[in-house]
Order: sequence, then structure tokens, then C-alpha cells
Amino acid sequence: MLSMHILILSPHTDDAELGCGGSITKFLENGDSIYWIVFSTAEESLPAGLPKNTLEREFLNVTQNLGLCNEEIQVCNFKVRYLHENRQQILDKLIEVRKKFKPDLVIGPSINDYHQDHQIIANEMIRAFKTTASIISYELPWNHITFNTQLFIKLKDEHMSKKCDLLKNYKSQYMKERLYFSEEFIFGLARSRGVQCNSKYAEAFEVIRWML
Ligand SMILES: [Zn+2]
Repeated sequence: MLSMHILILSPHTDDAELGCGGSITKFLENGDSIYWIVFSTAEESLPAGLPKNTLEREFLNVTQNLGLCNEEIQVCNFKVRYLHENRQQILDKLIEVRKKFKPDLVIGPSINDYHQDHQIIANEMIRAFKTTASIISYELPWNHITFNTQLFIKLKDEHMSKKCDLLKNYKSQYMKERLYFSEEFIFGLARSRGVQCNSKYAEAFEVIRWML
């Protein structure tokens, strides 16, 4: 497979790891170039007593773990749950990245995701890239009423164990005992998506634009 320029959009730290952490591992193995933007480090939603930059530090551990350098990531500090107040700044940022990085494929949240920040990123992603790149959306089942499993990225054991390793960096989220951080759930969902495409594991995506 030819290597691609792949832009990953995460409204908050951890969204992309949960939605497509196995696929990111596979892309890097394939020699694809990644550029990854996080829009909010959600300082206001941390468990009490933790330093404000906890989620940023945890995200940087993830990218370090993947061997990504500072030029391949961008961490913004928009206020969590208030991304709608910064729509134009977010669009401007995406257009700047479109010009510099020229992604072939953009991966972000679904337009069927009901978290207000995820909706803003999904919409601005489509505005910025609809005529220049393929666009797909990752699955975060707890945020969807419906999700169309239109595209599958098949994964092996090693991709899944790497996905779990990446998520283990988010100690602040494990403290909150979120159900979707359990390995049982992560492997269960990947097994279900794998069954749909004759693979042991997979991650599913919605297709917004596909350009060949
Ligand atoms: Zn999020």
C-alpha cells in the first residue's frame, strides 16, 4: 500500500486512541505520515487534586510511546464543552494544516456523535476537507444513537495490545472508572467489528468522503 498523509482529529485527548488507536498503530507500521491535533485538554473535567496539565502529559506519553515527534502533533487548549465558541479559529487551524500537511485522509469524530465538542470538530472537519481529502469518522459507541459501520480497518493481536498500552497512559481517566476504558469492552467491540469483516479484530468507521 502506498504511504499516505493522515490527519487525526481529537476533540479531547483520548478520543482518537479509543476510536482508532489500533488503526493508528497500523498506519505507523505501514510508514504513513501522521499529524495529530487535540483541541482541548479538558482541564476542567479532571478528578480533583490533579495538576491542570495532566491530560496533556498523558497524551504526550501516548505520542512518545508511538514514536511521534513534536512536529507531528499539536495540542490546543480550547475550553472543554465550549468548542462552539471557537468554530472559526478551529476552521482556520484546519485550513492551515490542509495547506501545510496536505492530508490524503482525515479521521475525526462522527456527525452522529452527540457530544457537543465532537459535533463541532466533525462539522469543521467536513467544511475544511470536503473537496481535498478522504474523510472517515471513528466509533465511540457511548456517544452515538446510530453509527454506520461502512469501512473496517482489520487489526491483529499486536495492534490491539498496543491500543490498550496507549490507553493505559490515561491514568486520570481510569480513576473515573469509565466503562469504555475497560479492556473487556475494548476487545469486545473490536471482536464484534472483526466478525463483520472476517478478521479477528477491527475498528469500524463511517465514510463521509472517499477519494481515490
Ligand atoms: Zn471527547
